Amino acid sequence: MGSTPWPEFLKKSPLPAKLQQEIARLYDEKRDYLPGLSKEEKQSRLAKISYADFLTQICKADPAVLPFFQTYSHDLFAVGIDAVSALACYRNPDDYGACHYAGFDGMQLGGDEEKEEPYIFHFPDGNASIARLLVRSLIPEAVPGHTMEDVVTARADYSKLDQSSSPLRVRLNSTAVRAQHSGQPESAQEVEVAYVQEGKLKKVTGKCCVLACYNSMVPYLCPELPDKQKEALHYCVKEPFIYTHVAIRNWRAFHKLGIRQIVSPGSYHSFTMLDFPVSLGAYEFPSKPEEPMVLFMLRTPCQSGLPRRDQYRMGRFELIGTPFSEFERKIREQLTRMLAPAGFDSARDIAAITVNRWAHGYAYEYDSLFDPHWAPEERPCVVGRKQFRRISIANADAAASAYTNAAIDQAYRAVQEQLKGV
Ligand SMILES: Cc1cc2nc3c(=O)[nH]c(=O)nc-3n(C[C@H](O)[C@H](O)[C@H](O)COP(=O)(O)OP(=O)(O)OC[C@H]3O[C@@H](n4cnc5c(N)ncnc54)[C@H](O)[C@@H]3O)c2cc1C
Repeated sequence: MGSTPWPEFLKKSPLPAKLQQEIARLYDEKRDYLPGLSKEEKQSRLAKISYADFLTQICKADPAVLPFFQTYSHDLFAVGIDAVSALACYRNPDDYGACHYAGFDGMQLGGDEEKEEPYIFHFPDGNASIARLLVRSLIPEAVPGHTMEDVVTARADYSKLDQSSSPLRVRLNSTAVRAQHSGQPESAQEVEVAYVQEGKLKKVTGKCCVLACYNSMVPYLCPELPDKQKEALHYCVKEPFIYTHVAIRNWRAFHKLGIRQIVSPGSYHSFTMLDFPVSLGAYEFPSKPEEPMVLFMLRTPCQSGLPRRDQYRMGRFELIGTPFSEFERKIREQLTRMLAPAGFDSARDIAAITVNRWAHGYAYEYDSLFDPHWAPEERPCVVGRKQFRRISIANADAAASAYTNAAIDQAYRAVQEQLKGV
């Protein structure tokens, strides 16, 4: 896909000939579908129309092509092309480089400077290494080593995280249930945080506190916040995903087919790929087909047709209501359909399955299709993260931006706020 000429590629698909021609036309004709408009005018038009409507109304495509493109946006936006603006699709090519949005090539929308940076940096264990590096900076004896490379295979010593002799302590398995000033917020000198550990309610007290969890939970944890701020915090609806990893005993079937990733628009999982080939420090990716490998499979449990935040709520409902046995059956069925002709046997070749149900996955990012155009200081994330005396609010939600860099920036901002004092 993307490397074979479109007519030739589509000819191998089971799609009717007319649809094949229509999809190939969208990719190959490279036409300016909005002639006479400036680049800025085109961009504002595309900001107000979904990519699905862009294809049918502006590129005049047959609506029957839509299922082919529907899940292109699932990995970055956790909804399909009915709920993402055409401009957002243009600016954010899919992060695995598997899909390329059709229709923009002749539109003269600007060069690569108009697009977001590609999504390419990756530790072998994903963002876990970032968390481990942060813990090592705080408590060096908890994670051996000194470099980004050696953290990947370092074994953490959990017993060092919460020692009374240490000036810094990390307490796991402790769910905060209340954060409040000791006395009137205007004059209080301390904040009390109540948390539950092994079913018991406990308390810690500090000069200040940073709440760095899901925005929508913050009003429940901190009922003394002003109502306007609570309302702003509730605006955020996290985006759900199902990230499945399947350990396979070898990847000969992929090698035989000459592929590393599979886009399956109509299937339970819309995307499957071999793990990113990253070697770092002592960790080396499996480079030979006979070696064990981890497969990544993506399902985005949204419900197309609804407003975007409702799609996320419905997705979460599906995700929580699906038992592991059903995920497992779907995984085995789909891998068999895709790979059995190349010799894959799911009973023999699957060594393990991990299904991560990210009920509250990405932070909600505002979109020109569904969200009003607020002045910067009126955006819910800005109203919601306002310092409340000795309590500050961080998390990626506080930036309405789904990525780690945003979470780190917000954490820095929240800590600086408290260091300046109340
Ligand atoms: C599947 C997936 C893949 C991702 N891939 C990438 C990627 O490749 N690149 C990238 O930049 N970003 C990626 N992200 C986004 C990135 O993980 C987030 O932006 C980042 O983790 C947000 O950090 P945070 O500190 O805001 O929140 P979190 O990392 O969610 O941390 C919040 C912490 O608070 C804890 N918590 C919540 N409530 C309470 C409570 N009441 N009491 C105590 N503790 C509580 C939670 O357990 C959690 O540990 C991905 C996210 C997901 C879900």
